[in-house]
This record gives sequence, structure tokens and C-alpha cells, in this order.
Amino acid sequence: MPRALPIALRNLFRRPFTLRYPKERREPFDNYRGAPRINRELCIRCWNCIRACPSRAISINPQTKTPRINLGKCIYCGECAEACPTRAIRMTKEFELATLDKGKAVSE
Ligand code: SF4
Ligand code: SF4
Repeated sequence: MPRALPIALRNLFRRPFTLRYPKERREPFDNYRGAPRINRELCIRCWNCIRACPSRAISINPQTKTPRINLGKCIYCGECAEACPTRAIRMTKEFELATLDKGKAVSE
């Protein structure tokens, strides 16, 4: 208790660490892992990303024959981007992904 008191007093006069989101925003850090996005032009359909995904969030879009990521299943680990030989998948800084429409929680 005696050691905690000075810390408590010091913090009493500090600005809060939290932001008034969404009014106040902070740009995510450079290595932040937000939504993975796929550049179809670069995809060579090797399916390394599907094999690398630990949460089985990636499937094949039957129309385009390119990967499709279910953002509801994705855990934003970045393994797919690491495994992609052509850098067709990259982790973006997008984090505002909440939606009531499951069909929109897809990255392709
Ligand atoms: S970021 Fe991780 S969980 Fe999400 S699709 Fe890529 S490998 Fe799968
Ligand atoms: S690993 Fe890259 S190139 Fe291979 S299927 Fe996935 S996105 Fe396409």
C-alpha cells in the first residue's frame, strides 16, 4: 500500500490513456495486422495460404478461382501473407470490420 500511494497520486493528475473513439482516432502502428486483403492479379493459385491458415478461414471462390477470406473466422495472424510467394496477400491496417451482414465479412 505505501508503494502504491505515490503512483496513485501521480496518475491522478495525468491525462487518460484512452481515446474518445470514434471521435478521436489513432493511426495503427506500422506492423499492425488488420484485415488481410488479396490482390487477385498477383495470385498464382498455389493455395499455400489455405494450407498455412490455422483457423481455416480461407476457401476458394468458385467464380474467380482465387482465395476468399472469411473475416469472421480470421484471427489476423498474418500466416497467409507470410506463406504467399507472390505477396498477393497483405495485412492492412483496416480494423473497423464490424457488420451485421455476414456476406460483407469477406476479403477477396
Ligand atoms: S490472417 Fe491468419 S487466420 Fe486470417 S486468413 Fe490469414 S492465415 Fe488465416
Ligand atoms: S498463397 Fe498467394 S499466390 Fe498462392 S493461392 Fe494464396 S494468394 Fe494466391
